[in-house]
Amino acid sequence: MRSVNSRQSTETMNQVALVTGGGKGIGEAIAMALARQGIRVAVASRTLSDVERVAAAIRERGGDAMAVVCDVTQPDSIAAAMARIGKITILVNNAGASASHKFVGHDDALWHQMIDVNLNSTYYVTKAVVPMMIDANWGRIINIASVASKVGGKYIAAYTAAKHGVLGLTRALAVELVAHNITVNAICPGYVDTPMTDRSIDNIVARTQLSQADARAVLEKTNPQNRLIAPEEVAAVALMLVGEDARGITGQAINVDGGAVQF
Ligand code: NDP
Repeated sequence: MRSVNSRQSTETMNQVALVTGGGKGIGEAIAMALARQGIRVAVASRTLSDVERVAAAIRERGGDAMAVVCDVTQPDSIAAAMARIGKITILVNNAGASASHKFVGHDDALWHQMIDVNLNSTYYVTKAVVPMMIDANWGRIINIASVASKVGGKYIAAYTAAKHGVLGLTRALAVELVAHNITVNAICPGYVDTPMTDRSIDNIVARTQLSQADARAVLEKTNPQNRLIAPEEVAAVALMLVGEDARGITGQAINVDGGAVQF
């Protein structure tokens, strides 16, 4: 029987992962975790200094990474990134953004921005990558969705609609691509300790006069474990999903939220 380590390195040899939004937060943790398994990682976001920093950190630890500037809302930018990266067998659609607004008087531009960065981006990047996976007769697509893919929250109609859409796309593609040994799954985190959540805390402070600590506590309380999720916890699920032992898991949406949502 092969050891776990030799089996993992055989599985991950020659795999190339694209992690969108890999320059910080959850994407950074996923890029680092995949690289530790010997997977070559293309780390992509709009900010060159972020993706260069993460790629350099991977290389310092003996991994293989390239930094790619890409705006996932722009098909031309995605096409240019594809040309640089080459064959991709693992896609992590992680880039996204959140914003809140009351529905009455909702800003149309904000609506379109949320749909673009969270849902259209996932569609565009996946459409570009899937033909390569079909050629390889193997692939892993992991969409970083949200608990907002499953339950509604007030003041986040656009984000919730976009993230529900990500889950719909996940489920449809899981069925459509099953014959090509491509699995398609979503991870649905609650509040994670990232720059995105720091911005949510700043918003609460600005709107309510709560202190930073009290605003953070409000978000922690949404998790029955009374804490924010660490980015590495989300990365651990992503890592599990890329392995050969996860080949039977597709069309699923795995919550990482301390048990707040149980379906
Ligand atoms: P951060 O804001 O901390 O990081 C987001 C990353 O996405 C950055 O690297 C950012 O880089 C990149 N990004 C944003 N817009 C684009 C774009 N148009 N093109 C390419 N890259 C882009 O977010 P998190 O790490 O917290 O979130 C990652 C994902 O997880 C998102 O999809 C989010 O919705 C989801 N999520 C987060 C939760 C949380 O509590 N933090 C909870 C549930 C889900 P740049 O701006 O430089 O392009």
